[in-house]
Amino acid sequence: MSSRPAPFVRPSTAAIAAALAALSARFGNKVVTSQAVREQHANTATWLTNEPPDAVVFVASTEDVQAVVRICAEHRVPVVAFGTGSSLEGQVNAPFGGVSIDLSEMKEVVAVHAEDLDCVVQPGVTRKQLNDYLRDQGLFFPLDPGADASLGGMVATRCSGTNAVRYGTMKDNVLALKVVLPDGEVMNTARRAKKSSAGYDLTRLFVGSEGTLGIITEVTLKLHGIPEAISGGVCPFPTVEAACNATIMTIQSGLPVARIELLDEIQVKASNAYSKLTLPESPCLFVEFHGTAAGVAEQSERFGEIATEFGGGPFEWATKAEDRTRLWQARHDGFWAGCALRPGTKAISTDVCVPISRLAECLTETQRDIAATGVTAPVLGHVGDGNFHLTLLVDLTDPEEIARAKAFSGRLVERALAMEGTCTGEHGVGQGKIKYLKAEHGEAAIGAMWAIKQAFDPHGIMNPGKILPLC
Ligand SMILES: Cc1cc2nc3c(=O)[nH]c(=O)nc-3n(C[C@H](O)[C@H](O)[C@H](O)COP(=O)(O)OP(=O)(O)OC[C@H]3O[C@@H](n4cnc5c(N)ncnc54)[C@H](O)[C@@H]3O)c2cc1C
Repeated sequence: MSSRPAPFVRPSTAAIAAALAALSARFGNKVVTSQAVREQHANTATWLTNEPPDAVVFVASTEDVQAVVRICAEHRVPVVAFGTGSSLEGQVNAPFGGVSIDLSEMKEVVAVHAEDLDCVVQPGVTRKQLNDYLRDQGLFFPLDPGADASLGGMVATRCSGTNAVRYGTMKDNVLALKVVLPDGEVMNTARRAKKSSAGYDLTRLFVGSEGTLGIITEVTLKLHGIPEAISGGVCPFPTVEAACNATIMTIQSGLPVARIELLDEIQVKASNAYSKLTLPESPCLFVEFHGTAAGVAEQSERFGEIATEFGGGPFEWATKAEDRTRLWQARHDGFWAGCALRPGTKAISTDVCVPISRLAECLTETQRDIAATGVTAPVLGHVGDGNFHLTLLVDLTDPEEIARAKAFSGRLVERALAMEGTCTGEHGVGQGKIKYLKAEHGEAAIGAMWAIKQAFDPHGIMNPGKILPLC
């Protein structure tokens, strides 16, 4: 399969002007062209250069999205969907200009079917808003990227978070999507049934498509019952390797851990300072179990024994909600805590994922590389999935340091791929990881991805310059 389109090009000034005139006629002051708002909609949170769109349109309905897409399609102007802009690989940048479609005003929880454990939401609903809405019904949605991301953005990046080891990633928790296609037509990918073998799995095609195939305007999600009891705590280890080996043993022995998160020593120091914690300054695992009171007690005890086998502990666990909330907020703030370690630098945030049996090896080699390269790079990991993140703090005024950091990032991905892993477990490809896609998937798979892109989006208006390598 060798379907390769012509390279994307920036539309002419006349085409942009015509599209903006038509959008302003339809949307009035919902079309914003101020520099600050355009730059905010190309925010990358990391070191990638800000590439603002020509305008931002705030939409309120599927019909609004259809109207924007139809106008942009007519003038061959790119459209970039925007949820909360918390993605980390330049996904919302607009390298070819065009229109950012801001979906944050589409924040209605359309329906909750408690008896079926599912709900239907508009794409601008954030994960925290949804969980606040569901709490009274004893239900929750478990996916929790560190940011309070929008559910549309979470679908589009195939994100996960701390609970994925127990509840799966976004690909496991989406039942159906409503999507506005690049010609403005509306498509439903599936129905509410928990399973279906009726035709191609279009839902999963759009999960992780980063706005390159269409704009998601409604999401049907699986929900879960709030567990009767939750236990959790922090367990220190002498080394990262010991913490990884304890994690591997926990997973391989079938202990149903709900969260198991690694912070290396430097990340622990950063989180102590940023989140006012007093954790022992050595590698730590944050661990949590969900179930009945007896079940979580038994599982916590068993985890404590496993930790001891690898020289870790004590594992002090508790079931008090306030302590847990503080701890997990600190975990979610880990990225910002890491960034605060070297003020004035920018973060190159990266994540890789390997099969769990290779985790200790991959992380140990990576730590050796960090020391040899002389970079500041705290490690945070959703290690139960074999997934870990590094926040490389780089002085962007020092070209030699930038080169060293980029070479280190490249070696990290090569290491993960050599261990049959992936260049990104959850942050997605955006602009930052395009260069690794061919090495990960091979020519034939990239050709198939281009064929899909061409079939859905023949004029290349949907978030051009993301995911797919040009050659
Ligand atoms: C501090 C911090 C911690 C993080 N931790 C994690 C983590 O633990 N796990 C994890 O997986 N991620 C993590 N992330 C990354 C981020 O939160 C996720 O990528 C998130 O899923 C993006 O959601 P968003 O609403 O911000 O999307 P945006 O950044 O607005 O958009 C992301 C991509 O999705 C597309 N998109 C957005 N909405 C739609 C839509 N309705 N239809 C079609 N395409 C759409 C955009 O065009 C873009 O390509 C973290 C980020 C930060 C800043």
